[in-house]
Amino acid sequence: MASPAPSSQQPRSTTSSSSDDGGRTGSDASSMRRSFLDHVRYSRGKNYETSTAHDRFMALSLAVRDRLADRWVRTARTYYEKDVKRAYYLSAEYLLGRALGNNLLNLGMHESAAEAMREVGVDLTNLLEMEPDAGLGNGGLGRLAACFLDSLATLGYPGMGYGIRYEFGIFTQDIVDGYQVERADEWLKFGNPWEIVRPEKAVPVRFFGRVEHHQGPDGKPIARWVGGKTVVGVPYDTPIAGYHNDTVNTLRLWQARASEEFDLLLFNAGDYERSVVEKNDSEVISKVLYPNDAFQAGKELRLKQQYFFVACSIADIVRRYLKNHTDFREFPKKAAIQLNDTHPAIGVAELMRVLVDEKRIAWDEAWSITQAVFGYTNHTLLAEAMEKWPATLFERLLPRHLELIYEINQRFLRQVQIRYPYDQEKMRRMSLVEEGQEKKIRMAHLAVVGSHSINGVAALHTDLLRRDVLPDFASMFPERFNNKTNGVTPRRWLAWCNPRLSKLITSRIGAGWATDLDKLRGLEAHAEDPAFRKAFREVKRANKEDLSRHIKDLRPVTLNPDAIFDVQIKRLHEYKRQLLDAIHIVTLWMRARRDPSTIIHPRAFIFGAKAAPGYHLAKLTIRLINGIAEVVNSDAGTTGLQVVFAPNYRVSLAERIIPAADVSEQISTAGMEASGTGNMKLMLNGALTLGTLDGANVEIREAVGDENFFLFGLTADEVIARKRAGYRPRDEYNQHLELREALDLIASGFFSPEDRALYKPLVESLLEEDRYLVLADFASYAAKQEEVVRAYQDTEAWTRKCIINVARAGIFSSDRTIKQYAEEIWRIQQTPVEP
Ligand SMILES: *Cc1c(COP(=O)(O)O)cnc(C)c1O
Repeated sequence: MASPAPSSQQPRSTTSSSSDDGGRTGSDASSMRRSFLDHVRYSRGKNYETSTAHDRFMALSLAVRDRLADRWVRTARTYYEKDVKRAYYLSAEYLLGRALGNNLLNLGMHESAAEAMREVGVDLTNLLEMEPDAGLGNGGLGRLAACFLDSLATLGYPGMGYGIRYEFGIFTQDIVDGYQVERADEWLKFGNPWEIVRPEKAVPVRFFGRVEHHQGPDGKPIARWVGGKTVVGVPYDTPIAGYHNDTVNTLRLWQARASEEFDLLLFNAGDYERSVVEKNDSEVISKVLYPNDAFQAGKELRLKQQYFFVACSIADIVRRYLKNHTDFREFPKKAAIQLNDTHPAIGVAELMRVLVDEKRIAWDEAWSITQAVFGYTNHTLLAEAMEKWPATLFERLLPRHLELIYEINQRFLRQVQIRYPYDQEKMRRMSLVEEGQEKKIRMAHLAVVGSHSINGVAALHTDLLRRDVLPDFASMFPERFNNKTNGVTPRRWLAWCNPRLSKLITSRIGAGWATDLDKLRGLEAHAEDPAFRKAFREVKRANKEDLSRHIKDLRPVTLNPDAIFDVQIKRLHEYKRQLLDAIHIVTLWMRARRDPSTIIHPRAFIFGAKAAPGYHLAKLTIRLINGIAEVVNSDAGTTGLQVVFAPNYRVSLAERIIPAADVSEQISTAGMEASGTGNMKLMLNGALTLGTLDGANVEIREAVGDENFFLFGLTADEVIARKRAGYRPRDEYNQHLELREALDLIASGFFSPEDRALYKPLVESLLEEDRYLVLADFASYAAKQEEVVRAYQDTEAWTRKCIINVARAGIFSSDRTIKQYAEEIWRIQQTPVEP
């Protein structure tokens, strides 16, 4: 990639190191080069001449890490000395992507690194491609966590991320004969230059065992969780650099290790073999990320993962607090803990266990501390994503936590009873325990009662959360509910991924937008300047050429850069309705074949999506898109239509596709997408949204105005009403000729010559239930697609719309989101690190 635009604004310590290290970490090209060559020799143990591209990637990364290290220790010291309140973000997922380019950008060292590499005959762009994505997440939720870390550091907030160091992140997706094939993501195979292991800070974590109840010397009851087995969490720290400042925060990821004592016990008993086998048992905990997005599979190992990283993190937070405090009543003044969805919700019970059982704090006091510390972010309204764990599993794995949850529940339900006497039904609905065939613990209810703040991630989502998902809680605790509309970091999602647009923007409004995205408003005036519009189009065109070149190396198609690039990139899920997009393409193709005069403009439909390996209909949809692509692309000369399924959608691929998009498909069934963040990235890069009134689409449309947004489909309320009235998808099929023809063609096996019945389950699911109202929204979608193509014909008006979209994307910066969390939930202060 070319140099990022805001290079005119360099950090203060650009050309010399601020620490007394004899110039070891200077950021000019010549000290970068020296440092790089040193690492080739002393860290990789190679002659430069025999070093591989991978050696060079590692050497440059280590040179960059050296430049982070000094800021890193100064940041830690600053927070410690000022004894600031910190925000701890607990997330089972971090979808970070690549780090080298982003670190170079944030350190303001991209130019000098490129020059240093040129001097030794290396192309930096190629080196950057050596880095595997850190794919420790499924999709939006994990990427949000990554954007938040970037914003925390950039704004100088004392914030820290905690999570799991999965040995295998989200699987690698290959496309074989049109089908998704999963491969293990061996991201650590060649080593990770960014992390530092800190074995001295390892934490023991107990599983299984039993609870002993005693009477303490003070006459009060004491519970002791004993026996079972112990696993050790070993922290690996990754530096998170702020943009053009001196802050470097920490992401601490826990890896599971067998505990030594436990091994020795068996070893000394002469059972060497078993001791090694059991070691494996412990270490599987951090082995692999569960590849489900917005779906709970309910696997025991998953609950182990959750408790493992939460217990390690809380022990670490408490240890840090106790370094210079003794009184736990002050704990909420020094720590805020945010739960990223319910995955870490067991933290509520764990902190109670630590405070009550270990620190011997009275229940009521421990409970008010706990509530003051925790905040909970809800990420989905989908029933199948709601985490509920069988009480029997809890009892076996975490016996003390189950007792604590029952106690929390009893006290909570007593409150409900006092507030709403004689309402047994309400008590049943609000209980942390779901009664039924199998007793289950409702993790969302645990998170809600244990937190002082409960937030949704877009205005509509928060409304629906209050109204439909947690109405009893919202009426009992209205003050706890609030909205924090998601955002994305403008550093990765504009400055880094779209250097051409960045440069153009900076040439008109200066470089300040990268840390104050509202400044993009200044572009609106330029939307009226024909020269600016032309330059804007040239940027988009060049980005489309780049993408076309990239995609032809992945799939057998060369996208026409004159085509409208229509993009749907996100996890494959029925509610996201990739099928709606696919069926519409079939209707376009049939129409174009029949009557070429219907072809107004060449169009390229670009998909990227991973399907959960066990999600049959989602995988079938991928096969269908590839089947459609094969047919449509063979015919592109006459229809002007092209379709491509870009394999292995991930952060680094998003960085290539988004700058080249003309149309952003955000077509989920209204009321089902909590927020979306892909929609924001695409808007920021000048794509126009074709979308439903769902998630943050609502706020995007409000920001840009209806004339700059392509709206279609039922509203969330209409979706509910339609289902209540007894929705009959077959009526839609019967009423719309083109829809019927397309579905018939798909069902006939035309797009699956290897198995004519292949798509029967897909078509049947649509005709018989169509839970996501694909057919109900089809006519509205198709009509809006026609409007899109017509609008594209007015080049100047289209460009104006794109520019207005960019200009009004400011509110979707994760800097705005993080300021709101910091001020309204965490109550933490910006604490800049002195240069
Ligand atoms: C932003 C992002 C997502 C989220 O996309 P949505 O369209 O909001 O679902 C998922 N995966 C990757 C790699 C992303 O960068």
